[in-house]
Amino acid sequence: MNPFQYERAREAAGAVRAVSPRAKFLAGGTNLIDLMKNGVEKPSLLIDLNRIALAAIETLPDGGLRLGALARNADTANHPLVRQRYPLLSLAILSGASPQLRNLASNGGNLLQRTRCPYFMDPGFPKCNKRAPGTGCGALDGFNRMHAIFGASEHCIAVHPSDMCVALSALEANIRVQGKSGERTIRMADFHRLPGDTPQVDTNLKPDELIVSIDLPPSPYAAHSHYLKVRDRASYEFALVSVAAALDLDNGGAIRSARIALGGVAHKPWRAEAAEKLLTGQKPTSSLFERAGEATVAGAKAYRGNAFKVEMAKRAVSRALASAGGVA
Ligand code: SF4
Repeated sequence: MNPFQYERAREAAGAVRAVSPRAKFLAGGTNLIDLMKNGVEKPSLLIDLNRIALAAIETLPDGGLRLGALARNADTANHPLVRQRYPLLSLAILSGASPQLRNLASNGGNLLQRTRCPYFMDPGFPKCNKRAPGTGCGALDGFNRMHAIFGASEHCIAVHPSDMCVALSALEANIRVQGKSGERTIRMADFHRLPGDTPQVDTNLKPDELIVSIDLPPSPYAAHSHYLKVRDRASYEFALVSVAAALDLDNGGAIRSARIALGGVAHKPWRAEAAEKLLTGQKPTSSLFERAGEATVAGAKAYRGNAFKVEMAKRAVSRALASAGGVA
């Protein structure tokens, strides 16, 4: 590990003042410290955020919920208001990592997780545009079983590893950030980026900006939602494909609106907007949900090792919707 300076911040403004291009914010450290140990991240300064009062979970005047950036993933998933109003988010968080990691990982840090592409994680591999821009992409012609089927580029086919972010995408969360020039809000849909020709940039957060909260709008989806995660083993494993499915049903049982987001398939949580439109106004049936699965994967592009993900995503969407809609 490279030598670095360490500072504790006591309030958000102080953390933002202290940050510089080679500094990193430290919260749970569950991803950053691993990356520092293996030489992927080499900050000259760590700014410890853990003394800042940003861990509250509280209701918003519009009926939504504010999740503090420093609230731990476990505390968020198990919070009574999250379980009651956003069970989709609770399920998604609890499907990720291990209990020990969820006890330490923060909400803000979860948003900023970096890909677990093995070529990125190991500096022994010479080709990785995300870790070393301009070197190429080792996964394109290499091991790409875990990689993207949507939104990739010739420069990077990595996927975002978070489960929490998939639920936040379906719930259309807003990310509140504080920078040297003040506060702003970023829609979840705009927070993460597709790789394009700058895969080294994961998000639209500016270098001096600190995430202060995740704001959830009021949700009509609590009664009909489900998070389905398909993975190689039943716990402590990243998704091959995951689906956050949420339905709002009217009094006659028709779908008033639908939200579908996928994980494990793109550089950011992937919204299945064509499938959402197809569902709107329809009565929930298994054949409708199968068509939604087909619509979801219409634009998929697979690589040598991950063609199975296309069929898997199609079926996972159909199954997650069936669970959300109570259709056998
Ligand atoms: Fe690097 Fe992205 Fe290619 Fe993985 S997929 S090797 S992260 S450029």
